[in-house]
Amino acid sequence: MSNNSVESNEMDLIDHTHDPARRSWVQSANGHSEFPIQNLPFGVFKQGGRQRGGVAIGDQILDLDAALELGAFSGDVVDIARTASLDRLNKFMAMGKEASTSLRSALSELLSEHNPNAGKLTQALIPQSDASMQLPCDIGDFTDFLTSLPHTDRLGRLKGLAEPVPAAFKSLPVAYHGRSSTIRVNGTPVVRPTGQWRRADGKLVCAPVESLDYEVELGALIGRGNELAVPIPVGQAQQHIFGYCLVNDWSAKGIQWFEQILGPFLGKSFMTSVSPWVVTSQALVPFRSPARVRTDDDPTLFPYLVSEADLASGRLAVELSANLRTAAMREQGAPGRRVNVSDLQCMYWTFAQMLSHHTSNGCSLRAGDLLASGTLSGETPDSMACLSERTAGGTKPLDLGNGEVRGWLLDGDEVVIEGHAHKAGFVSIGFGSCGGVVKPALYKD
Ligand code: CA
Repeated sequence: MSNNSVESNEMDLIDHTHDPARRSWVQSANGHSEFPIQNLPFGVFKQGGRQRGGVAIGDQILDLDAALELGAFSGDVVDIARTASLDRLNKFMAMGKEASTSLRSALSELLSEHNPNAGKLTQALIPQSDASMQLPCDIGDFTDFLTSLPHTDRLGRLKGLAEPVPAAFKSLPVAYHGRSSTIRVNGTPVVRPTGQWRRADGKLVCAPVESLDYEVELGALIGRGNELAVPIPVGQAQQHIFGYCLVNDWSAKGIQWFEQILGPFLGKSFMTSVSPWVVTSQALVPFRSPARVRTDDDPTLFPYLVSEADLASGRLAVELSANLRTAAMREQGAPGRRVNVSDLQCMYWTFAQMLSHHTSNGCSLRAGDLLASGTLSGETPDSMACLSERTAGGTKPLDLGNGEVRGWLLDGDEVVIEGHAHKAGFVSIGFGSCGGVVKPALYKD
């Protein structure tokens, strides 16, 4: 089924765009925690009534349309930049990594402090505070995986399962098909859903769900897709990932736990949040790290899930955190409480394995499809990336340190996820924010 002898990683090299000494003439980019010149993430923004593609640099957006007007690009890059400037990134993503690598290289030169033509390009900058960020692309399909072993084990025990980690978890990357029509960008409020769930006394009710939770995840956005019936070998999977964004898979646990016979449905489909800037695979090359070391306890994998290149560099050195800010904290001007910090060490599977497994039955992926990691919980309490784990299903409320406690999210609570890639010798890059405030339910029982 697979052809792992072809391992095309020629687009995955560390080059001048990652040079830690590189600085930008956009002063706010130098030392910026999210968007230094080494990052250059793509996104879609609205400003002046028009929606179009741009690149984050410091606290500014380089308006690709305006940069094209100024004649900033030359050669083949003109067409690529024009495609990236459209009101959705799908066509640009579908051009593949050769195109995004070329544009990244050109942008790195344009925004470098050594660009002699920097002066006129200032006209193509728009402060991020003047723009409204949109979804970066049409997300045709959304698949949410389950890749954290500690998360799976802990929730299995919480539910009292005889086998907390089912055998399938270690044999293949488990997932469910999510709802793409309800994916929203950072800042969109989440309305508490109403549904069927069991109260603590065992009575089944149809009411606004109490057990509202967040789930901290990282999502891969597909670049070039695959034809129906033609799987993507794991060794080539990285070439099909355009980039990554933050994901909050808001969950109504009570609804999910009562309904889940065939898989998650209304407990998940009410809304999912994503961050607006897509950090490209190329920007993350320096942060590649070895995949999880398999032990004697792990089953032998079928060959279609194994690639030497993926084992050597299939994981990303990315740290994610969630900040919970209650309505009371906002009123007091308090910053909120960081409720978890975790990294991708907990992932039993790599994104390449997830993508390759997804296509292994011939399923086709399209540019803009979203593949999320599942809740990225580690071993320690501070690394538990959802309240279900942190509060043992709401039974051990979390002390927020200001006199408030939370078993589950209350109306008015705001959850903001952030993520950063770190590695010694390189400039850290960030993913921006993925947040939203909980609004009261519209429908009562
Ligand atoms: Ca999830």
